[in-house]
Amino acid sequence: MSRIAYVNGQYLPHNHASVHIEDRGYQFADGVYEVCEIRHRMLLDVPRHMDRLERSLRELQIAMPLDRRIFVSILREVCRRNRVTNGMVYIQVSRGVSPRNHLFPPASVKPSMIITARNTNLEAANKMAAAGIGVFTVPENRWERVDIKSVSLLPNILAKQKAHDNGAGEAWFVDKNGYVTEGSSTNAWIVTAEGTLVTRPAENGILRGITRTRIIDMATELGLEVEERAFTVDEAKAAREAFVTAATSVVMPVTAIDNVVVANGHPGEIASCLRALFFQSSEKLAC
Ligand code: PMP
Repeated sequence: MSRIAYVNGQYLPHNHASVHIEDRGYQFADGVYEVCEIRHRMLLDVPRHMDRLERSLRELQIAMPLDRRIFVSILREVCRRNRVTNGMVYIQVSRGVSPRNHLFPPASVKPSMIITARNTNLEAANKMAAAGIGVFTVPENRWERVDIKSVSLLPNILAKQKAHDNGAGEAWFVDKNGYVTEGSSTNAWIVTAEGTLVTRPAENGILRGITRTRIIDMATELGLEVEERAFTVDEAKAAREAFVTAATSVVMPVTAIDNVVVANGHPGEIASCLRALFFQSSEKLAC
């Protein structure tokens, strides 16, 4: 089946979908994105993703390209046209197309908007979660505004590649005081010996992950303690459990940090339980 992409008002065959060479997303990484998970033909937590998209755009003074209701109907249409059962939908909005100039273009230049969707291999993801992944730590080298979900991801991709080259599935950025900030595309968590879930506060240094917020709510409802504070790499290595969260990987257990095995080297009970319960507690919107 051929894939379909939405590009600035048109549904196009994926192979022919393109943006202009002077799109500011392409030339300056002057744009933002969102990724929503699709499970069993349901889009998860759309209002939260739209809230964050609108916030990212506001922070960069880029106009929301369409009314939210129309935006969401296009989102659903792209998922339908691509027959996504389990997978993801990707949204990108840039400041638009204009002759290259660092200054913002005139207000008449409309933001560019693209949406793509695709199936992913749920079975493979579950297999990975059953085994757990390793993480590899790298020095934090990103700008201060990582709370904005900007497409400027060069440090993130370099970190992820370095982790991969070292046999790990994710990189953890570590700030100059030795505290973990977050993963290259995930939020980072540990579970202490007492069973408290710990994740860095979202005030600075991390993206406020939608999955992170969901897990805080779920854990609290389950009667688990959640502490929003920074933790060091050493504390994580000695933790009862470690895991990462993101829309695409949900809850992914971490079983090794810089090749040091976490606990008994198997996915932790709490991480596995939260992963199993995640779908039912999400806000769902049929594709
Ligand atoms: N941090 C970073 C740097 C990310 O790229 C992501 C995934 N987009 C996350 C955290 C997790 O966010 P979410 O749970 O909203 O997918």
